[in-house]
This record gives sequence, C-alpha cells and structure tokens, in this order.
Amino acid sequence: MKRRKFLGGFNRFRLMLTLGLAVLLPAAALIYVNVSELRHFERDKVLEAYINRDFQEMLAISEKKMNKKAYAMVEETRELFPSPGVDPAEKEDKLDRLLEKSPWLSHAFLYDEGSIIVRTQPGQVSDKFLRDERETMAESYPVWIGAREGKTLIEGLHRKSPHIMFYNSQTKRADGPAFLAVAFFVLPQVADERVVLAGIAFDPCYLKKVFFPGMLEEFVNDRTRDQGGNRLAMMICPAKAPEGREITPMVASAGWGDGKPEVLRKLDDVFGGLALGIKYQGTSVQALGQSWVHRSFLILGILSLMIIGGLVLTKHMVSKEMALAKLKADFVSNVSHELRTPLALIRLYAETLELGRITTTEKKQQYYRIIRKESERLTALINNILDFSRIEAGRKEYEFRETDIADLVRNTLDSYRYQIEQQGFALEESIDPSLPAVRVDREAIARAVVNLVNNALKYSAEEKFLGVKLYRDNGAVKLEVEDHGIGIARRDQSKIFEKFYRTGDPLVHNTKGSGLGLSLVRHITEAHGGDIAVESTPGKGSRFILSLPLATATQQTGVVQ
Ligand code: ADP
Repeated sequence: MKRRKFLGGFNRFRLMLTLGLAVLLPAAALIYVNVSELRHFERDKVLEAYINRDFQEMLAISEKKMNKKAYAMVEETRELFPSPGVDPAEKEDKLDRLLEKSPWLSHAFLYDEGSIIVRTQPGQVSDKFLRDERETMAESYPVWIGAREGKTLIEGLHRKSPHIMFYNSQTKRADGPAFLAVAFFVLPQVADERVVLAGIAFDPCYLKKVFFPGMLEEFVNDRTRDQGGNRLAMMICPAKAPEGREITPMVASAGWGDGKPEVLRKLDDVFGGLALGIKYQGTSVQALGQSWVHRSFLILGILSLMIIGGLVLTKHMVSKEMALAKLKADFVSNVSHELRTPLALIRLYAETLELGRITTTEKKQQYYRIIRKESERLTALINNILDFSRIEAGRKEYEFRETDIADLVRNTLDSYRYQIEQQGFALEESIDPSLPAVRVDREAIARAVVNLVNNALKYSAEEKFLGVKLYRDNGAVKLEVEDHGIGIARRDQSKIFEKFYRTGDPLVHNTKGSGLGLSLVRHITEAHGGDIAVESTPGKGSRFILSLPLATATQQTGVVQ
C-alpha cells in the first residue's frame, strides 16, 4: 500500500513536471513575449510611423497630380496664344478670346521686346482688385523681364520641358487675401534669341472654389479604399500661418472638422506658398494606434485565458484518468481477493465433507449452506463483472417483460432472508401487493435489489437494520432500501455510482467489494427510464431510492447500451 501511495505521489509529481515543462512554460513564455512585444510596439509607435510614411507618400502623389493638371491647363492656353508678329489690336483680340474660352484665368499677357499687353478676363475688368493687379503687372513685368533676370528666365524656359514656370504670390479679392499663381512660358513659334515671354494668371477664386476642392475630393475618394475603411480628409492651407495664429484651411475636403493635420506637406513649383494636409476623419493616427494596441491586448487576454482554461481542463482530465487508473488497479486486487476467499472456503468445506469426518446432519447442513452461500456470492460477483464488461463494451441487452414487481422483490429478498437473519439484521419489509404489472428485465432488477441489499448488509456496523419498501408514488414504482449503517459523506454521495469508486471509510476498506455494484444499479435503472438517489447521514445510515416510471417502464424494449 505504501508503495502504491508512493507511486501515486510520484506519478502526480511527474504529471505536474510534464505539464509544467511541456505546456505551462511555453504557454507562459508565449504570453510574456506577446505582452512585452505589444508594450514595445506601443512605445515605438511603429504603426504611427507606418501611417505617417503612407500619408507622406499620398501627399507627394497628390501634389504631382495637381501640378500635372495645372501644367496641362497652361499648355492648353499656350497653344492659343497669338504669335508676336501680328499687330497689337489683333493680339489684344486674340488674348480676350482666349480668356473667354478659359474662364479659370484672371489675366493673360504677352511681352515682346520691351512692350507688354496685359488682358483681363473680359467679364471682370470692372473689378477693382483685378484692375490693380493688371496695372501692377503691366508696370512691373517689362522692367523685370527687360533686365538680365528676364533674359536668364527666357533662356531657362527654352531649355526646360515643358517650357513653363510658375511664380506665386499673395493677392486680394473681394472676400479677402487670395493666392495668385502666374505661369510664364515661351511661345512655340518664336525663335530662341527673341525676348518674348507670355503668361497667364490663374483666377484665385477658381482655384479656391473649383480646382482645389475637386482635386481634394478625388484624392480622398481614391485613397480611402486603401485605408481599411477609415475615411480620410485633406486640406490646403497657406504654408506659413499668419503671425501668432494657427494654420486654418483655405480649402478642405468633406469631414475635415477642426482637427490638426497628421502630416503637412509644403508645396513648391505650381503651388509654392501653400501646403497640403491630411488626416483621418473623426480620429487620429495616435487614437488608431492606441485602439489597435488595446484590441491586441484584449485578443491576447482572451487567448491567454483560453490557454489557461485548456491547461486546467487538461490537468483535470489527466488527474481523472489517473484516478481511474488507480481505481482499476484497486479493483483488480479487490476482485482477485473476493474470488479467492469464497473459493478457498468452498474447497475447505467440500474437502472436509469428502473426508466423511462430519457425522452430524446438522453440521453437514451447515457446511452445505456455507458452500451454497459462498457460491452464490461468487455468482453474484461474476454476474456483476460480466454485466459490467457488457455495459462497457456496449453489448448489454435487456429483456423487458410484463412483471409483477412486488413478487420479484419479495422472491429476491426471500433468497437472502436466511443470510439477513443469520447476520442478526432486523428486516422490515413493506411491499405494496396491489402494484400494477411493470415491464422490466427481471434478472437485472433482481440484481439491482441484491446489490442494494448486499451493500446495506456490508456497510452496517453496530445497528443492524434493513428496511425494504416497495410502493407506488404518482407515476412511478419506488423501491427503498434502508440501513442504519455507516452512512456516506456528502461529497461521496454523487461519486458512489461511478464505476470502481469506493469511499475512504475504514469499514469499506476492510469489506470486500469491487466498486461495481452501484454503477450497475444506476445503469439498470436508467435503462428502465428510471433513476436512483441516495439519502444518507454519516454514522446514521443510508437510504437508496430506486424509482421506475410506470409509463416509460412499460414502453422499454430492446437493447440498451
Ligand atoms: P462495493 O463493491 O464497494 O460495495 P458499490 O458500487 O456497491 O461497490 O458501492 C460503492 C461504494 O459506495 C462502496 O464502496 C461504499 O463505500 C459506498 N456504499 C454503497 N452502499 C452503501 C451503504 N449502504 N452504506 C454506506 N456506504 C455505502
């Protein structure tokens, strides 16, 4: 016993070690590594950096697209410019027609060797701001182009492709400060050495109300699809905020709100002096990063819980298996012991009788009785084991037949009556004779009764009492087997119906048993559609109540596994 205990302890230790080393440690390490990586991730803001880079790229691409469009528009008007050879009136006329055709322009001008013609959008000539602008252009451009600077510019333009250059400045319109983009270019049909320079000025209102909003909307719609459903917003603002003030968008796409841009790109070339900003609608990259980290922590938490749950379950199951293995080992030793004792007794008494030494009939009778009783015990045990193995193999068959259950119980008790009285038990029998016939497997029910009665006899100490009751209770027939024996502790009451289970009571320990009886009783009862319950107080006794429903008990047929 000592050895087994030691082995049990050793096995448990080994199990813990295996669980610990093979499963717990790697699981814990995995959880630890993930948590620390996530923390690290939060610190490094890799996600934010990644989004920032993506935003930078988007802004660069957007600027290129805007520039391309602006260049294409200038290119288009450049084709329509009058050649410098024609007389001034015709030039003016041609420029006016060009402006009419291109309503996105405020002015168009042509400088030819010292003289300049500046024309303004015909519909807007009366506008004070445009008039001022034109006057400034007409006065300052010839000075500037005529100087060395202008010549260098023209030479540069001839070499450049396209032959266009932008010059940006602040101007004014009725609704406040405005952005003026002026394109200078050389004309296609003019020889390189001639100082001829043409140009147009974009209408600031057109840029603000049509060009920029259209472009922004296009970029946002194009790119939102790549951003995992987080809608983007973009805006255009002056590159430098006015002294002491925050940057305010000049034009913004829908949903910009009043947040700050995540990334701001200063534009040059066509729209120098302006900046392009981008952000997510209604959220920030930081918030996105944080919510990502939170979500990851949550998922990790759930996964960790699942791993821990799995481990607990595994440990539980392995422990259960180990307990079952131990019960099986005990079972084998109990059964061998139980087989050996009656066999030895039978042999001993049979040999004694054979020798003819027993002379008195009374003594002989006693020996015969012992032999019968022991063989009955053997039969009961073997029947239990056979039934059990059939049940385990799923081959147990029940044969249901219309039965007078009162008769069945009485007969079963009768064959035990002598043994009961011999052992000094007071038998109290209360069997209702008027019970209806029930369809049961007679042999199985008899075996259940025998097991219950046997247990009552086995597990009684001082007070030897056996009560058997059979009565009708609503739709069921109930069989009660009661003793005033050692009783069963509360925590054991649900386990005693499991196979091989025996309580730790010293009396149980010293009493022979296989731990199969009650598990068979339960199987038999359930096969009949009934149930078995126990009421017990340690030291006071137990009452087993087997109930067979009348209605369903009569319907049972065939094989039950
Ligand atoms: P066993 O062969 O050990 O009697 P059973 O399956 O019949 O196997 O019973 C399982 C265990 O339930 C017993 O070992 C015993 O500990 C407990 N038990 C069963 N019947 C009684 C009873 N009438 N009084 C006290 N304990 C009982």
